[in-house]
This record gives sequence, structure tokens and C-alpha cells, in this order.
Amino acid sequence: MSGIKMSKIYCAKCESDKISLDQMKCLNCGSSFTDEDIQDLLTEAYEDHLREQEGLNVVEILAGGLDKAIEELDVKAIKTFDGEKYQVWELAKSELKKLDIDESKWKDEWGFWRTAEGSNMSGNPIRRYTINNKHIKAYDGDRRLINEEVNKTLPVDERWDIDNRKYGHLLEYISEEIGASQPGNICAICVDLAKINGIKMSALFEKYNKNIMAKQGSGMS
Ligand SMILES: [Zn+2]
Repeated sequence: MSGIKMSKIYCAKCESDKISLDQMKCLNCGSSFTDEDIQDLLTEAYEDHLREQEGLNVVEILAGGLDKAIEELDVKAIKTFDGEKYQVWELAKSELKKLDIDESKWKDEWGFWRTAEGSNMSGNPIRRYTINNKHIKAYDGDRRLINEEVNKTLPVDERWDIDNRKYGHLLEYISEEIGASQPGNICAICVDLAKINGIKMSALFEKYNKNIMAKQGSGMS
């Protein structure tokens, strides 16, 4: 745990913060700790620390199958969404550097991760969409905008049928409305959507992309 400045750790018994890591005991009530106890306390403290710093030094990354990389590269991170194809992890920017290693050293079984400041969609209008049966503020895609413009020049009965801003799930919206399919681009649009809607990227996936597997599963049977 070297190099990490974290919040204080507290005794599980008396909640005192007078913990000696060297003596592995609480100096207030005298409880002694096992290695495992200490590890738990440190993990807990680290997670508190991340939450305290939210929005400052913590980043959300979009990833897939990153668990082994997190473990083997000893990255302190919290998995905040775990889907079939995508995960969202929260970690300190300083920890992110551990993932930023030479491509030649990156193992196949480590999955992938992307970060983004945002997308290039900011010029597009933001409208109310329905995704996964829930309302969300989202960008109109370029194709919709072009069709709308073209429609203005056409007689009524020749106009394009423009759909009603409704998608089954988040990734469908991103693919069909925005036309993005690469993880980096998906990450960028998700960063924007999270910002626009005032929620975290993990919540974005939780709310607008969850249960698609369940639905597909029931459709198969
Ligand atoms: Zn104690």
C-alpha cells in the first residue's frame, strides 16, 4: 500500500483511529489484528478515500474483462459496474498510471480499458430519449439531423420516417443513433451522457444498459 495517502483507518471494535500498523493492534482498546484484518481495514479506508476525492482525482474508465490486469498489476480500483461486455472501474488517477503500460507488455487475458474527456458530440442538440424504458437526455445523431433537414425540402408524403428517440438499451442508442462502435468512442459518449444527466458512468450502464442479457435470454427460450 506504499505511496497511497488514505483516510485514517479505524478499529472495528472501538472505532478509535489509534491503530498501530507495526504492532498490528489498536492502541486504544488493545485489540490485535491479523494480516487479513489489516488488509480489510486498508481496503475499506482506500474506498472511503476514493469516495471523498470523487470528482477530483478519481476517474471512471470503461473496460472489458479487466479483473486480471487489476489484480496482477496491483491496481487499487473499485469495479462499479460489471456487465457481459463492459465494465466500469473507479480509480485514482495515480493508480491509472499502472494500467498505462507498453502495449507489448499487455497480456491478452488482461482485457481492455479506455478513458475519455468527452466526445465530439457537443454541437448536436440534446433531446429527451427513452432508453431501456427510462427517460434520458441524449444527443441527436448526425443522420437524424440530416434527415430532418432533407425532410424540410420534401413533399409530406415523401419524407423520411424519423423514429421517436426510443432505444432498447444504451449500447443500441450509441451504435444506431451516434454510429459509434469502438470502445474509445463508446467511452467518450458515455462520459458525456453521464455528465449531461448528472450521474456516474456506472449508473448510466446500470440504469440504461442492464437487463438486456435477461431479456435476450428469455427471448431465446
Ligand atoms: Zn480499538
